[in-house]
Amino acid sequence: MPLLYLQLRRVSHQPRACLAPVGEKEVPGAGSTTGQRRKHTCQFCQTEEDLLEVKPDIVPGPRSYQHTYRIHFSRAGSYRCSETSLGFEVRALVAIEYQWDSWERHLKPHQLQGWVVASPLFNIQVEPAGAIAAIYLPHIVCLKGGEVDISLMYVAHIVNGELTLEKPTRVKPFYAVLENPSFSCLGLVFRYLFKHIPVHSKVLLYHAAMSAPTTFHVYVIPCDDSLEKAVEEHEEKHNAVLLDKPPQIDNPLYIDRNYTVASSPKAEILPKKLKFSYPIQERRQPFVEVYIRDLEMNIKLHITEVSSTEVLWEAMVREEDIQRARSSPEEQADPHFIDRHREQLIQRVTVVDALLDKLYGPVLDEEQYQRIRAGATNQDKMRRLYDLMPSWDRACKDSLYRALKVQHKHLVAELSEVVNWALVAAN
Ligand SMILES: [Zn+2]
Repeated sequence: MPLLYLQLRRVSHQPRACLAPVGEKEVPGAGSTTGQRRKHTCQFCQTEEDLLEVKPDIVPGPRSYQHTYRIHFSRAGSYRCSETSLGFEVRALVAIEYQWDSWERHLKPHQLQGWVVASPLFNIQVEPAGAIAAIYLPHIVCLKGGEVDISLMYVAHIVNGELTLEKPTRVKPFYAVLENPSFSCLGLVFRYLFKHIPVHSKVLLYHAAMSAPTTFHVYVIPCDDSLEKAVEEHEEKHNAVLLDKPPQIDNPLYIDRNYTVASSPKAEILPKKLKFSYPIQERRQPFVEVYIRDLEMNIKLHITEVSSTEVLWEAMVREEDIQRARSSPEEQADPHFIDRHREQLIQRVTVVDALLDKLYGPVLDEEQYQRIRAGATNQDKMRRLYDLMPSWDRACKDSLYRALKVQHKHLVAELSEVVNWALVAAN
């Protein structure tokens, strides 16, 4: 195993770098929900040679797809970034800094006339440049086991708004490889010779609203990690959660063809159809909204192309899926966060009345609420609250945890950190 030097940087409540390649010790909670992303596979395309996956140091940007990633390698080897899927063949000690960039910021529409964008655009700086023997740029095109003409794929190199096209050294099922690259803005484009380009794609299913009717957002997106991050950020901002369903679509989808989402039992689904596209502007993705009045019964969702009956993707959604997705790692941990930090919470919570207001109804009845409020001090009130806990189930503790997260965000973060770092030390 090559030794890596990756700079550890702690950024409070932000994605954090890991000390070691994935597969070795991992910092709990690092990298946002990135751990839910899976390596792309396709029934037509052979899996890539194994690049060693590494977690970069992350400098947060204004949006999650605008982070800056940094890696220092001290040994030769072939590596793949866990956040962006960018790959590097390293000759010698090197420092690399990169981020996703925007095609439209650097190019005017006419400059890409006759070409289809086939990857995100990467802005890459390397010091010294000669230490990188080859770069692996992840693309979205499904080569369909050799059916697709790979000579149509080019590396787009953008310097000061000028576009230069370069033949990649090799085109692999999920990457185009460029040996002895020079750096600045690099991406992949595909010559637009035929109308429909097959694309590796995936489905992201979000539970969008807690209240009835239950609402889901179904995204069908090309396998581009920057798009996934943009969707994730947009949905999380609206308190939606990703459901843990297989995201992969086994067959490629085709740019500009329409697809449709259906359900059993029948739900309200809008829009009826959506055009599958690879929008490069602002990384905004369209989605299909599914409303269902009563989720007591399971709901099966499936996706087909409008012109076909072949099911491209399907999943069964149960109420437990939503509950699991909505509970945080702290809530799922055993013993519960509320039990683990009893002493600290009794001593340090200062807004007990606000917590009680949140628990009144779902957790506390009138008599319990009044009895706790009558406590002389905050500590006294917290002790009275803890006295009730032997009769509580996990859902009651989850409710208190969520109320604490709202009222005492920093205290909860601090206590969670203590546990996470203790776990790292124990490993
Ligand atoms: Zn494929």
